[in-house]
Amino acid sequence: MSDLEAVDAPIAYHLRRYTKTDGRVLRLYGRQPHTLPVTEDLPPVDPPNPHLRWHPLRQEWVIYATHRQARTFMPPAEYCPLCPVAEGGFPGEIPFADFEVAVFPNRFPGMQADAHDPPGLGVPTAPSNGLCEVLVYTSDHEASYAALSADRQALVVQAWIDRYRDLLGESQVQFVMPFENRGEAVGVTLHHPHGQIYAFPFIPPVVERMLDGFRKTPDLRSDLLRQADDGLAVAGDDRMQALVPPFARFPFEVWILPKVFHAGPWSFDAAEIRSFATLIGKVTATYDALFDRPMPLIMLLYAAPKGAEHVFPFHVQFLPFLRDTNKRKFLAGCEQGAGTFLVDVAPEDMAGRLRDVAVTR
Ligand SMILES: [Zn+2]
Repeated sequence: MSDLEAVDAPIAYHLRRYTKTDGRVLRLYGRQPHTLPVTEDLPPVDPPNPHLRWHPLRQEWVIYATHRQARTFMPPAEYCPLCPVAEGGFPGEIPFADFEVAVFPNRFPGMQADAHDPPGLGVPTAPSNGLCEVLVYTSDHEASYAALSADRQALVVQAWIDRYRDLLGESQVQFVMPFENRGEAVGVTLHHPHGQIYAFPFIPPVVERMLDGFRKTPDLRSDLLRQADDGLAVAGDDRMQALVPPFARFPFEVWILPKVFHAGPWSFDAAEIRSFATLIGKVTATYDALFDRPMPLIMLLYAAPKGAEHVFPFHVQFLPFLRDTNKRKFLAGCEQGAGTFLVDVAPEDMAGRLRDVAVTR
Protein backbone atom coordinates (compact mmCIF):
# COMPACT_ATOMS: atom_id res chain seq x y z
CA MET A 1 0.00 0.00 0.00
CA SER A 2 1.39 3.43 -0.80
CA ASP A 3 0.39 7.00 -1.52
CA LEU A 4 2.12 9.92 -3.17
CA GLU A 5 1.84 13.57 -2.17
CA ALA A 6 3.25 16.77 -3.73
CA VAL A 7 4.44 18.81 -0.72
CA ASP A 8 4.14 22.58 -0.82
CA ALA A 9 7.36 23.47 1.07
CA PRO A 10 9.82 26.40 0.66
CA ILE A 11 11.52 24.09 -1.87
CA ALA A 12 8.86 21.78 -3.35
CA TYR A 13 9.28 18.01 -3.04
CA HIS A 14 7.29 14.79 -3.33
CA LEU A 15 6.60 12.36 -0.50
CA ARG A 16 5.62 8.73 -1.01
CA ARG A 17 4.44 6.67 1.96
CA TYR A 18 4.70 2.92 1.65
CA THR A 19 3.48 0.55 4.37
CA LYS A 20 5.98 -2.29 4.76
CA THR A 21 4.98 -5.94 5.28
CA ASP A 22 5.44 -5.55 9.06
CA GLY A 23 3.32 -2.36 9.23
CA ARG A 24 6.16 0.18 9.46
CA VAL A 25 5.68 3.23 7.21
CA LEU A 26 8.58 3.95 4.84
CA ARG A 27 8.75 7.53 3.57
CA LEU A 28 10.46 8.35 0.28
CA TYR A 29 11.36 12.02 -0.29
CA GLY A 30 12.18 13.15 -3.82
CA ARG A 31 12.34 16.08 -6.15
CA GLN A 32 10.70 13.68 -8.59
CA PRO A 33 7.56 11.65 -7.76
CA HIS A 34 8.60 8.12 -6.72
CA THR A 35 6.54 5.59 -8.68
CA LEU A 36 8.85 2.56 -8.88
CA PRO A 37 7.28 -0.86 -8.12
CA VAL A 38 7.90 -2.62 -4.81
CA THR A 39 10.61 -5.30 -4.91
CA GLU A 40 11.68 -7.49 -1.95
CA ASP A 41 10.69 -6.32 1.55
CA LEU A 42 12.01 -7.80 4.81
CA PRO A 43 9.94 -10.43 6.63
CA PRO A 44 8.16 -9.22 9.82
CA VAL A 45 9.82 -9.75 13.23
CA ASP A 46 8.26 -9.90 16.70
CA PRO A 47 7.14 -6.39 17.74
CA PRO A 48 9.72 -4.73 20.04
CA ASN A 49 8.74 -3.75 23.59
CA PRO A 50 11.53 -1.63 25.14
CA HIS A 51 11.22 -0.17 28.64
CA LEU A 52 12.81 2.48 30.88
CA ARG A 53 14.34 2.08 34.33
CA TRP A 54 15.11 5.02 36.61
CA HIS A 55 18.73 5.45 37.75
CA PRO A 56 18.35 6.94 41.23
CA LEU A 57 21.90 8.38 41.52
CA ARG A 58 22.15 9.94 38.08
CA GLN A 59 18.42 10.76 38.23
CA GLU A 60 17.86 9.79 34.65
CA TRP A 61 16.16 7.10 32.59
CA VAL A 62 18.07 4.15 31.16
CA ILE A 63 16.58 2.47 28.08
CA TYR A 64 16.41 -1.33 27.95
CA ALA A 65 15.85 -2.78 24.48
CA THR A 66 16.65 -6.41 25.19
CA HIS A 67 15.01 -7.64 21.96
CA ARG A 68 18.02 -6.13 20.16
CA GLN A 69 20.04 -9.12 21.40
CA ALA A 70 17.53 -11.57 19.94
CA ARG A 71 17.84 -10.56 16.30
CA THR A 72 17.29 -13.71 14.27
CA PHE A 73 17.68 -12.11 10.87
CA MET A 74 21.06 -13.26 9.53
CA PRO A 75 21.89 -11.48 6.29
CA PRO A 76 24.92 -12.28 4.10
CA ALA A 77 28.15 -10.65 5.26
CA GLU A 78 28.24 -8.18 2.36
CA TYR A 79 24.60 -7.24 2.81
CA CYS A 80 23.56 -3.62 3.40
CA PRO A 81 19.93 -3.22 4.54
CA LEU A 82 19.92 0.44 3.44
CA CYS A 83 20.84 -0.17 -0.20
CA PRO A 84 18.15 -0.20 -2.90
CA VAL A 85 16.73 -3.64 -3.69
CA ALA A 86 16.42 -5.02 -7.22
CA GLU A 87 13.56 -7.32 -8.25
CA GLY A 88 14.51 -10.80 -7.01
CA GLY A 89 17.39 -9.39 -4.89
CA PHE A 90 18.09 -9.95 -1.20
CA PRO A 91 15.32 -8.21 0.85
CA GLY A 92 16.09 -4.80 2.36
CA GLU A 93 14.56 -1.99 4.38
CA ILE A 94 13.91 0.07 1.24
CA PRO A 95 12.38 -2.40 -1.24
CA PHE A 96 12.72 -0.32 -4.38
CA ALA A 97 15.31 -0.30 -7.18
CA ASP A 98 16.15 3.35 -6.45
CA PHE A 99 15.22 6.31 -4.24
CA GLU A 100 16.42 9.81 -3.33
CA VAL A 101 16.00 10.17 0.48
CA ALA A 102 14.28 7.54 2.67
CA VAL A 103 13.07 7.45 6.30
CA PHE A 104 11.66 4.47 8.18
CA PRO A 105 11.15 3.38 11.81
CA ASN A 106 14.09 1.42 13.22
CA ARG A 107 13.40 -2.32 13.15
CA PHE A 108 15.05 -2.91 16.54
CA PRO A 109 14.31 0.40 18.34
CA GLY A 110 15.18 1.57 21.82
CA MET A 111 11.83 3.36 21.87
CA GLN A 112 8.53 2.20 20.42
CA ALA A 113 5.24 4.16 20.36
CA ASP A 114 3.13 1.24 21.61
CA ALA A 115 5.62 -0.20 24.14
CA HIS A 116 3.67 -1.55 27.13
CA ASP A 117 3.74 -3.39 30.48
CA PRO A 118 7.25 -2.57 31.77
CA PRO A 119 8.52 -5.03 34.41
CA GLY A 120 7.77 -4.29 38.08
CA LEU A 121 11.07 -3.78 39.95
CA GLY A 122 12.55 -2.10 43.02
CA VAL A 123 13.15 1.03 40.90
CA PRO A 124 10.62 3.02 38.88
CA THR A 125 10.05 1.67 35.36
CA ALA A 126 8.01 2.91 32.40
CA PRO A 127 7.24 1.81 28.85
CA SER A 128 9.75 3.34 26.42
CA ASN A 129 7.07 5.16 24.43
CA GLY A 130 9.21 7.13 22.01
CA LEU A 131 10.09 6.58 18.37
CA CYS A 132 13.35 5.76 16.58
CA GLU A 133 13.76 6.34 12.87
CA VAL A 134 16.52 5.90 10.30
CA LEU A 135 17.15 8.56 7.63
CA VAL A 136 19.04 7.41 4.53
CA TYR A 137 20.65 10.29 2.62
CA THR A 138 21.09 8.55 -0.73
CA SER A 139 20.76 5.21 -2.51
CA ASP A 140 24.54 5.32 -3.20
CA HIS A 141 26.33 3.10 -0.65
CA GLU A 142 29.72 4.70 -1.40
CA ALA A 143 28.61 8.34 -1.10
CA SER A 144 28.72 10.64 1.92
CA TYR A 145 26.60 13.63 2.93
CA ALA A 146 29.38 16.02 1.86
CA ALA A 147 29.59 14.40 -1.57
CA LEU A 148 25.87 14.89 -2.33
CA SER A 149 24.65 17.66 -4.62
CA ALA A 150 23.54 20.86 -2.89
CA ASP A 151 19.95 20.09 -3.89
CA ARG A 152 20.09 16.59 -2.39
CA GLN A 153 21.58 18.02 0.82
CA ALA A 154 18.62 20.43 0.95
CA LEU A 155 16.23 17.49 0.49
CA VAL A 156 17.82 15.75 3.50
CA VAL A 157 17.18 18.91 5.56
CA GLN A 158 13.58 18.95 4.34
CA ALA A 159 13.17 15.31 5.39
CA TRP A 160 14.41 16.28 8.88
CA ILE A 161 11.89 19.13 8.95
CA ASP A 162 9.05 16.81 7.92
CA ARG A 163 9.98 14.31 10.61
CA TYR A 164 10.27 17.07 13.27
CA ARG A 165 6.71 18.17 12.43
CA ASP A 166 5.23 14.67 12.56
CA LEU A 167 7.13 13.45 15.61
CA LEU A 168 6.57 16.61 17.69
CA GLY A 169 2.89 16.21 16.77
CA GLU A 170 2.79 12.94 18.76
CA SER A 171 1.29 13.72 22.17
CA GLN A 172 3.80 11.65 24.19
CA VAL A 173 6.90 13.08 22.46
CA GLN A 174 8.80 15.80 24.37
CA PHE A 175 12.02 16.14 22.38
CA VAL A 176 13.19 15.10 18.91
CA MET A 177 16.88 14.65 18.09
CA PRO A 178 18.21 13.84 14.63
CA PHE A 179 21.83 12.74 14.80
CA GLU A 180 24.54 10.92 12.93
CA ASN A 181 27.19 8.60 14.34
CA ARG A 182 30.02 8.56 11.85
CA GLY A 183 32.99 6.20 11.77
CA GLU A 184 33.88 2.89 13.40
CA ALA A 185 35.41 4.76 16.35
CA VAL A 186 31.86 5.70 17.41
CA GLY A 187 30.50 2.22 16.78
CA VAL A 188 29.09 2.54 13.27
CA THR A 189 28.69 -0.82 11.55
CA LEU A 190 26.56 0.28 8.56
CA HIS A 191 28.62 2.44 6.21
CA HIS A 192 25.74 3.46 3.97
CA PRO A 193 25.31 7.26 4.46
CA HIS A 194 22.55 7.67 7.01
CA GLY A 195 21.52 9.25 10.27
CA GLN A 196 18.97 8.53 12.95
CA ILE A 197 16.11 10.40 14.59
CA TYR A 198 15.11 9.74 18.20
CA ALA A 199 11.82 11.11 19.55
CA PHE A 200 11.92 10.95 23.36
CA PRO A 201 8.88 10.75 25.68
CA PHE A 202 10.87 12.89 28.16
CA ILE A 203 13.42 15.70 27.94
CA PRO A 204 16.79 13.89 28.18
CA PRO A 205 19.16 15.07 30.95
CA VAL A 206 21.71 16.75 28.67
CA VAL A 207 18.95 18.72 26.95
CA GLU A 208 17.37 19.60 30.31
CA ARG A 209 20.67 21.19 31.37
CA MET A 210 21.03 22.97 28.03
CA LEU A 211 17.52 24.36 28.44
CA ASP A 212 18.40 25.60 31.92
CA GLY A 213 21.57 27.12 30.46
CA PHE A 214 19.69 28.97 27.72
CA ARG A 215 17.26 30.31 30.34
CA LYS A 216 20.16 31.64 32.41
CA THR A 217 22.06 33.06 29.40
CA PRO A 218 19.37 34.22 26.96
CA ASP A 219 21.97 36.10 24.87
CA LEU A 220 24.24 33.10 24.39
CA ARG A 221 23.41 32.61 20.70
CA SER A 222 24.06 36.25 19.76
CA ASP A 223 27.16 36.37 21.99
CA LEU A 224 28.59 33.34 20.18
CA LEU A 225 27.87 34.89 16.79
CA ARG A 226 29.73 38.02 17.91
CA GLN A 227 32.68 35.96 19.10
CA ALA A 228 32.82 34.24 15.72
CA ASP A 229 34.09 37.57 14.40
CA ASP A 230 36.85 37.50 17.03
CA GLY A 231 38.60 34.42 15.69
CA LEU A 232 36.24 31.54 16.44
CA ALA A 233 34.58 31.37 12.99
CA VAL A 234 35.15 28.32 10.81
CA ALA A 235 32.86 28.96 7.83
CA GLY A 236 29.49 30.48 7.04
CA ASP A 237 27.48 33.00 5.06
CA ASP A 238 24.95 35.72 5.90
CA ARG A 239 22.40 33.14 7.14
CA MET A 240 24.39 30.48 8.99
CA GLN A 241 27.62 30.47 11.02
CA ALA A 242 29.91 27.54 11.81
CA LEU A 243 32.17 28.29 14.78
CA VAL A 244 34.15 26.72 17.60
CA PRO A 245 32.48 27.58 20.91
CA PRO A 246 35.00 29.21 23.31
CA PHE A 247 34.13 26.45 25.83
CA ALA A 248 34.55 23.48 23.42
CA ARG A 249 34.77 20.17 25.29
CA PHE A 250 35.92 18.13 22.29
CA PRO A 251 39.02 18.91 20.20
CA PHE A 252 37.81 20.73 17.05
CA GLU A 253 34.20 20.83 18.25
CA VAL A 254 32.07 22.94 15.86
CA TRP A 255 28.59 24.38 16.22
CA ILE A 256 26.36 25.67 13.43
CA LEU A 257 24.12 28.55 14.45
CA PRO A 258 21.46 30.29 12.33
CA LYS A 259 22.03 34.06 12.29
CA VAL A 260 18.44 34.66 13.42
CA PHE A 261 16.61 32.76 16.16
CA HIS A 262 14.79 29.59 15.11
CA ALA A 263 13.37 27.03 17.54
CA GLY A 264 13.86 24.43 14.83
CA PRO A 265 14.62 24.21 11.12
CA TRP A 266 10.89 23.96 10.43
CA SER A 267 10.74 27.78 10.25
CA PHE A 268 13.66 28.09 7.76
CA ASP A 269 12.92 29.77 4.43
CA ALA A 270 14.30 28.33 1.20
CA ALA A 271 17.56 30.30 1.41
CA GLU A 272 18.16 29.20 5.02
CA ILE A 273 17.49 25.55 4.12
CA ARG A 274 20.06 25.75 1.31
CA SER A 275 22.63 27.58 3.42
CA PHE A 276 22.23 25.18 6.36
CA ALA A 277 22.32 22.08 4.15
CA THR A 278 25.49 23.23 2.37
CA LEU A 279 27.27 24.27 5.58
CA ILE A 280 26.80 20.81 7.15
CA GLY A 281 28.53 19.37 4.09
CA LYS A 282 31.28 21.97 4.29
CA VAL A 283 31.97 21.30 7.98
CA THR A 284 32.19 17.51 7.49
CA ALA A 285 34.42 17.97 4.42
CA THR A 286 36.62 20.31 6.49
CA TYR A 287 36.92 17.65 9.22
CA ASP A 288 37.93 15.02 6.67
CA ALA A 289 40.57 17.35 5.23
CA LEU A 290 41.94 18.33 8.66
CA PHE A 291 43.86 15.08 9.23
CA ASP A 292 43.46 13.82 5.66
CA ARG A 293 41.26 10.92 6.80
CA PRO A 294 37.53 10.55 7.57
CA MET A 295 36.89 12.13 10.96
CA PRO A 296 34.89 9.91 13.32
CA LEU A 297 32.27 12.17 14.84
CA ILE A 298 28.81 12.59 16.29
CA MET A 299 26.58 15.24 14.70
CA LEU A 300 23.63 16.38 16.82
CA LEU A 301 20.70 18.54 15.72
CA TYR A 302 19.37 20.37 18.77
CA ALA A 303 15.92 21.89 18.28
CA ALA A 304 13.77 23.21 21.14
CA PRO A 305 12.06 20.63 23.34
CA LYS A 306 8.27 20.90 23.36
CA GLY A 307 7.19 24.02 25.26
CA ALA A 308 10.64 25.72 25.09
CA GLU A 309 10.25 27.17 21.60
CA HIS A 310 10.92 30.74 22.77
CA VAL A 311 14.00 29.90 24.84
CA PHE A 312 15.97 27.19 23.09
CA PRO A 313 17.67 28.20 19.81
CA PHE A 314 18.10 25.55 17.15
CA HIS A 315 21.73 24.68 16.48
CA VAL A 316 23.97 21.80 15.48
CA GLN A 317 26.87 20.39 17.47
CA PHE A 318 29.68 18.33 15.93
CA LEU A 319 31.64 16.24 18.43
CA PRO A 320 34.77 14.84 16.69
CA PHE A 321 36.84 11.97 18.07
CA LEU A 322 40.33 12.69 16.71
CA ARG A 323 42.65 15.20 18.36
CA ASP A 324 45.48 14.57 15.93
CA THR A 325 46.15 12.41 12.87
CA ASN A 326 46.65 9.25 14.90
CA LYS A 327 45.38 10.32 18.30
CA ARG A 328 41.87 9.43 19.34
CA LYS A 329 39.92 11.41 21.88
CA PHE A 330 38.76 8.98 24.57
CA LEU A 331 36.16 9.74 27.17
CA ALA A 332 37.95 8.27 30.17
CA GLY A 333 37.94 8.57 33.96
CA CYS A 334 37.68 12.33 34.28
CA GLU A 335 34.98 12.69 31.61
CA GLN A 336 32.94 9.55 32.43
CA GLY A 337 33.46 9.54 36.16
CA ALA A 338 33.25 13.23 36.92
CA GLY A 339 31.61 14.73 33.86
CA THR A 340 34.59 17.08 33.50
CA PHE A 341 36.35 17.36 30.14
CA LEU A 342 40.10 17.79 29.70
CA VAL A 343 41.10 19.44 26.41
CA ASP A 344 44.64 20.02 25.16
CA VAL A 345 43.98 22.50 22.33
CA ALA A 346 42.63 26.02 22.87
CA PRO A 347 39.34 26.66 21.03
CA GLU A 348 40.89 29.70 19.29
CA ASP A 349 43.61 27.47 17.85
CA MET A 350 41.07 24.81 16.84
CA ALA A 351 39.12 27.45 14.91
CA GLY A 352 42.23 28.77 13.18
CA ARG A 353 43.28 25.32 11.99
CA LEU A 354 39.77 24.43 10.80
CA ARG A 355 39.44 27.78 9.05
CA ASP A 356 42.74 27.28 7.22
CA VAL A 357 41.52 23.90 5.96
CA ALA A 358 38.05 25.25 5.10
CA VAL A 359 39.34 28.16 2.98
CA THR A 360 41.84 26.08 1.04
CA ARG A 361 39.13 23.70 -0.14
ZN1 LIG B 1 24.23 0.34 1.31
